[in-house]
Amino acid sequence: MRHRMAVVGAGPAGLTCARVLHLHGHPVTVFERDPSPDARPPGGTLDLHAGLGQLALAKAGLLEDFQSLSRPEGQAMRILDTDGTVLRDWEPGPDEDANPEIDRGQLRDLLLGPLDVEWGRAVTTVVPETGGDGAVIRFADGRQEEFDLVVGADGAWSKVRPAVSSAEPHYTGVTFLETSLDDVDTRHPDLARLIGDGSVAVYGANRALVAQRNSGGHVKVYAQFRAPLDWHTDLERHLGLTGRKELDLADAHAVQSALLAFFDGWAPSVLELLHHGTAFAHRPLYVLPVAHTWSHVRGVTLLGDAAHLMPPLGVGANLAMLEGAELAESIVSAGSGDLDEAVRAFEEQMCARAGKWAEMTRAGLERLVSADPAEAVAFFDEFQPS
Ligand SMILES: Cc1cc2nc3c(=O)[nH]c(=O)nc-3n(C[C@H](O)[C@H](O)[C@H](O)COP(=O)(O)OP(=O)(O)OC[C@H]3O[C@@H](n4cnc5c(N)ncnc54)[C@H](O)[C@@H]3O)c2cc1C
Repeated sequence: MRHRMAVVGAGPAGLTCARVLHLHGHPVTVFERDPSPDARPPGGTLDLHAGLGQLALAKAGLLEDFQSLSRPEGQAMRILDTDGTVLRDWEPGPDEDANPEIDRGQLRDLLLGPLDVEWGRAVTTVVPETGGDGAVIRFADGRQEEFDLVVGADGAWSKVRPAVSSAEPHYTGVTFLETSLDDVDTRHPDLARLIGDGSVAVYGANRALVAQRNSGGHVKVYAQFRAPLDWHTDLERHLGLTGRKELDLADAHAVQSALLAFFDGWAPSVLELLHHGTAFAHRPLYVLPVAHTWSHVRGVTLLGDAAHLMPPLGVGANLAMLEGAELAESIVSAGSGDLDEAVRAFEEQMCARAGKWAEMTRAGLERLVSADPAEAVAFFDEFQPS
């Protein structure tokens, strides 16, 4: 008899898990809050590492498709001083495919393939059955359904997580303001040259500007800075901007003007990154406690950001996907046998590995947005292939 399985969340973790289960002929239902795949912008580009995200795609039988879509040239990385001097300029060699980039939308469509996702099914709670083997999912529309295993792959603010853990994300002290540029090669050729084929990063004291190329000439720009969570309520007090008080985060012109004042003194060629955005998304960075673990609960488990939300230093989606693939493989190996034991063993392995990455990314964020910009360059030198 096949186990009844539900995955909550159609992000990288949930879709990879469902896709590997599907590959092995195991039925699974995916519930996603968004009403459709294109209901909101999919977000920036992702680099998929050879031993993590790419391994997951291989397990899903999708590595070749990924290789035909991904951008190895997107691995290029340039670091500038605040006066525009180039400090590092790394370009991948012709066979370098350790971390090629792919747009999130492309990755989602690749993983979706034949999967049948139930869109517009927001989960509100998951209740493990007392004395039983499964769990009940309650939905925002009032319905409820019962499964042998509920996989919480519903991201940072997971509604599944409370079924196994009382941990909640906390603010890291670093905020991103994200804006976008379109058609950069035609409309902003100087910026296109500055950014190159991949990313450019400019580090100052407790602040940075980072721009990343996506496909089709689309660029995401991130203004990053260390500040209290309520920084926008008093710019003079929290960002040192004399005479500026409360900022309306919905007012793009006001945000742009505040950012230009905050990064005042940086090279005009670098500040151009901030001049053309027409909307700015506010992204305070939250994390779960480092080495988040929980006592195993029958019938429920977690993957990806729901299990170990960490700073965005290029591993979150990679881990999420590998975990999705590995959980699916454990379930397949268990066959009609002991599902609970397979999940328990998976959790042990996942939590040990994720704990190490959580600590590394915590320390990395401290160095990338730090009082001493040389720390960020040293961090790059330690991790970038030479
Ligand atoms: C600026 C930025 C840049 C990043 N860059 C990288 C990178 O280069 N490489 C990398 O590996 N990682 C990167 N990350 C991290 C990466 O985005 C996350 O780690 C990854 O998306 C986690 O995948 P997930 O599937 O666990 O969660 P998510 O991607 O958050 O997906 C969760 C899904 O669950 C759905 N959902 C949420 N709540 C419910 C609910 N109640 N009911 C039903 N569905 C629900 C959501 O709509 C969503 O579709 C970056 C993050 C940020 C913020």
